Amino acid sequence: MTPQPAIATTPFDAAAVRADFPILTQEPAPGEPSLVFLDSAASSQKPAAVIEALDDYYRAANANIHRGVYRLSELSTGRYEQARHLVADFVGAASPRECVFVRNTTEAINLVAHAWGRKHIAAGDLIVLTVMDHHSNLVPWQLLAEEKGAELAHVTVTPDGRLDLDHLDALLRREPKLVAFPHVSNSLGTLNDAAEITRRAKAAGATVLIDGAQSVPHLPADVQALGCDFLAFSGHKMLGPMGSGVLWGKKAVLDALPPFMGGGSMIRTVELTRSTWADVPARFEAGTPAVADAIGLGAAIEYLSALGMDAVRAHERDLLAYALPRLAEIPGMTLLGPSDPVHQSGVVSFTLGDIHPHDVAAILDAEGVAVRAGHHCTQPLLRHLGLVATTRASFYVYNTEADVDRLVSALHAANRVFGLT
Ligand code: PMP
Repeated sequence: MTPQPAIATTPFDAAAVRADFPILTQEPAPGEPSLVFLDSAASSQKPAAVIEALDDYYRAANANIHRGVYRLSELSTGRYEQARHLVADFVGAASPRECVFVRNTTEAINLVAHAWGRKHIAAGDLIVLTVMDHHSNLVPWQLLAEEKGAELAHVTVTPDGRLDLDHLDALLRREPKLVAFPHVSNSLGTLNDAAEITRRAKAAGATVLIDGAQSVPHLPADVQALGCDFLAFSGHKMLGPMGSGVLWGKKAVLDALPPFMGGGSMIRTVELTRSTWADVPARFEAGTPAVADAIGLGAAIEYLSALGMDAVRAHERDLLAYALPRLAEIPGMTLLGPSDPVHQSGVVSFTLGDIHPHDVAAILDAEGVAVRAGHHCTQPLLRHLGLVATTRASFYVYNTEADVDRLVSALHAANRVFGLT
């Protein structure tokens, strides 16, 4: 393994953070190991502050929003719109109106594929994605390309799991209409230089969508610095409730788009055979939204902001720097991706000898260590790397070096079960 760069130890009290998460501080059943949760890339745990925000909303403020003239509805509306302000500040949006509440990253990308894609993509147009994309940034564009007769091309990935930027440049010379890519790979943890990729794509005249599902929860993400047109992310991966997500879009770009779904709340006027549309973001929030979940996401953002996103990133980088050499020493271990805390988020994917990743995960589970095994919704990436599945451990604010130690000793146990050590 290449030597790791020196990383400053940061003042981050993960043990104190952990104490804020009821699920992580539960007493295990007699004879059971305590929980080490290393699957935050799939969905994070929730701090008491978020659980209490949901509880308080339903106890004290529950009513449908925007339409009510009574005080409870105004209270509910106020909290929902306050959450939108929090989201806007968190990603550096020019205005809360640029932030559309959706259910998750998948819905955000589908919204863009429908509303922007149907308007701007025509037969023969090129859409550039990457081999490392999550299925939710592949399939919506496949559906659009099929409908429109557009072409898809994918930036290739190097053996150590990085985007090949020379290949990106070659594809950009073909003047794609759209470039969409993940800021951070959910499978390998690769931290892409999203601002640089966006700069090159914009110079080639493309509209740019960044899949921020794995970056917005883990590092400072500022849409002004990124320079993109769209940023999609999920609340449930950043301490917020399931069913909360955001599409950020540049106001001028959103303003020019037709609706995605039709119904209540997204209209200005309705006649029997035609309608006119509300301004953004209401135009994209048809029907009764997940009000409590948006408010819960606001509470999650307040929690993360109090920690500081620079500190969150530094903590995960430190954990990775601690974990990588210890994992590399385990017999049979093959670490995938950059294996470099500077170019990697807190996601470690690996294979262990020829033990099936599902078996590895099952043995780790018996030791109380929760990790994910499979293709991580990135089948093309794994195929490209000659793999079918990996085991993936992912870190977040509540993980500690002791969690890494438990992971390492559980992996030694897996080797013993399979007679490899
Ligand atoms: N993109 C990436 C990079 C992801 O990691 C995920 C979730 N695994 C998604 C998109 C989809 O997120 P969601 O399931 O919340 O829509």
